[in-house]
Amino acid sequence: MIELANITKRFGNYPALHGIDLSIRPGEFIALLGPSGSGKTTLLRIIAGLEYQDSGEVRLDGEDVSSRKVAERGVGFVFQHYALFRHMTVANNVAFGLTVRRAKNRLAHRDIRARADELLRLVQLDGLGDRYPAQLSGGQRQRVALARALAVEPKLLLLDEPFGALDAQVRKDLRRALRDLHGQMGLTSVFVTHDQEEALELADRVVVMNQGRIEQIGTPDEIYTAPATPFVSHFVGETNLLPAALFGRGDGDLHVRPHEIAIVANDAPADGSTRAEVHVANRFRKGPQWRIEGRLAINGRLIEIDCEPGQAVPAPGETILIRPATARNFPA
Ligand code: ADP
Ligand code: MG
Repeated sequence: MIELANITKRFGNYPALHGIDLSIRPGEFIALLGPSGSGKTTLLRIIAGLEYQDSGEVRLDGEDVSSRKVAERGVGFVFQHYALFRHMTVANNVAFGLTVRRAKNRLAHRDIRARADELLRLVQLDGLGDRYPAQLSGGQRQRVALARALAVEPKLLLLDEPFGALDAQVRKDLRRALRDLHGQMGLTSVFVTHDQEEALELADRVVVMNQGRIEQIGTPDEIYTAPATPFVSHFVGETNLLPAALFGRGDGDLHVRPHEIAIVANDAPADGSTRAEVHVANRFRKGPQWRIEGRLAINGRLIEIDCEPGQAVPAPGETILIRPATARNFPA
């Protein structure tokens, strides 16, 4: 169990974290999700012991470890640019954490190599142990970084945008590899990302951060279907704002996802307040659906609508009627 209690951190006058509370259960996969500058890396570094909080506690299994050094916290790291040692073979990179142990805890040379080979097999790099990092692709290097982090059997695996520099297909493969390893090895993992898809796909629970605060903690399903704040509604998934008054639903804006907007037939019986006019500006295929971009007639606001498969797709220049099939609002 990892508990963060009321963690605050300033850099000079700049408040990077305001009173963060978070408990992480053994075996959990947690994603810290938020825009650049929201404090994700700072929080991860405080958990690791690479940075120190100004106030608050970091507890591991009930014990305050705030004064413990990195090496004493039993954590493994993978960073976006955690450069491998260029002059060392892949196997030696992976084995690094084992070779620098004190003599009395160190495995025999042969056993260290066997362990490195086993880890390379786990990250699907069998047989590449004698190469040098320069002879690997970006994705393979991050697999090596992952194997190196796992070599010391960390209690906690911390990953800071580890796949950020890789292309889409490689990222996807690595996500799957990471998820499998997390399960197989019974890890507890904290993964920092600004990519909502990555967070929703990997995590048991997502912690959405904004300006040094936690906006919401929940399962991916909760975060997506029941965002707690307007920020989460916009940051996770796409959100249209429709004036609530147009639909007889009070003040302020309704938050409506593109697939939650229904296009109403033009010859449907008019019932005054429940429909809104949209001028269609553009349409394009978005996976299984067509995406419509248009402007709300009443205020010119951009509206994005996903058509249901099989539904007639309005063309640019047309004016359509819409209504929100589902909607959320956030009373002030
Ligand atoms: P994220 O990882 O979410 O992008 P960070 O935790 O890196 O955010 O940074 C949070 C805020 O703290 C940013 O505004 C950043 O500029 C600031 N910050 C981070 N590290 C330092 C530092 N060492 N010195 C001064 N400001 C910092
Ligand atoms: Mg960061």
